Amino acid sequence: MTHPLSDRIKSLPASQTLAMAAKARELRNEGKDIIGLSLGEPDFNTPDFIKEAAIEAINQDYNSYTPVDGYAELKDAITVKFKRDNNVEYKASQIVVSTGAKQSIANVMQVLLNPGDEVLLPCPYWVSYSAIATLCEATPVEIPSSIDTNFKITADQLEAAITPKTKLILFNSPNNPSGVMYSKEEYEALAAVLEKYPNIYVMSDEIYEHINYEAKPFSFAAIPSMYDRTITVNGLAKAFAMTGWRIGFIGAPEWIAKACTKLQGQITSGTNCIAQRAAITALLASPEKVQYMVDEFKNRREIIIGLLKEIDGVNISTPDGAFYVFPDISAFFGKTIKGKEIKTASDFAMLLLEEANVATVTGDAFGAPSCIRISYAASEAQIREAIKRIKEVLS
Ligand code: GLU
Repeated sequence: MTHPLSDRIKSLPASQTLAMAAKARELRNEGKDIIGLSLGEPDFNTPDFIKEAAIEAINQDYNSYTPVDGYAELKDAITVKFKRDNNVEYKASQIVVSTGAKQSIANVMQVLLNPGDEVLLPCPYWVSYSAIATLCEATPVEIPSSIDTNFKITADQLEAAITPKTKLILFNSPNNPSGVMYSKEEYEALAAVLEKYPNIYVMSDEIYEHINYEAKPFSFAAIPSMYDRTITVNGLAKAFAMTGWRIGFIGAPEWIAKACTKLQGQITSGTNCIAQRAAITALLASPEKVQYMVDEFKNRREIIIGLLKEIDGVNISTPDGAFYVFPDISAFFGKTIKGKEIKTASDFAMLLLEEANVATVTGDAFGAPSCIRISYAASEAQIREAIKRIKEVLS
């Protein structure tokens, strides 16, 4: 039976990261020994000093609605964080706190995009950018890259992709899924193109900023000519192991922040009061306090890359940040493995799930159909076992 759902929801693809995680959970419930390397979620617990701040907030009876754009103390803490970590000055009136960075991104697209506007997505890009743009009746426009260009786009490619309909471009560094980081110079070259097109806005998703291994990431809004049209998105989920607490935020031109607050006031109101109080403590602490997790991710990065390099046909680059590897597996296309014909990255990811009991995510979800994403936010033992199983299936 066809249910009378809106065309909007019928045309919306399900999130493939969440779908793969759900599939892994389902198979595990059936008794299968699935190793889940699909979801980008730290396997650490939220640090005690943050948990204690939340408990204190409960005991202090924080239970009422909060201001729609977030507690004043939290917005102040976010301005301190932007200055300290990103060298970007925002006033509290430019900050909006939301239910996860995902809502921050959705808010910004809803308030900026009209039907038919084009949204530039440098590939590879996080799975929900294109879906949210589509929900706004805008048109996602991919700018391709590959492992041969270290998953980065050039200024020439950007210029060629711009049309009179271009309204927004999404940057994400460190990148999910490739882990690649754009340097200050690379961003400045892209900004030099955008300077010629004053009607294009930039959303810079910096959710993985603290999870970096080679250099500190550079914030796009720190380029003076771009500040007035850049929306910086960040949140607590990744660096503080707080995925379920759902705290995201933006720093943006005041008129965009106001519009996001108006939207949020109609659909969700202010986000959870206890999580907001805990976020104040987390953001005002030195980033050093969570460095132990980054050190451990770095260690796992070395392990997973070393192991994957031993598998013939797997072409892998070294990510600068985040906790994903994004190998090109197109050498397997056209082969039949364990009786299954591999034509696409989705076939390949399904082979790994069914034959190796390892959950990954197809690169198709990220605009990179030659690759798969493997999260190494899992224990060393799980990583070793998963890659051993993958190697057995592929040899
Ligand atoms: N951002 C994470 C990921 O890419 C969490 C899942 C999601 O929201 O897509 O795996």
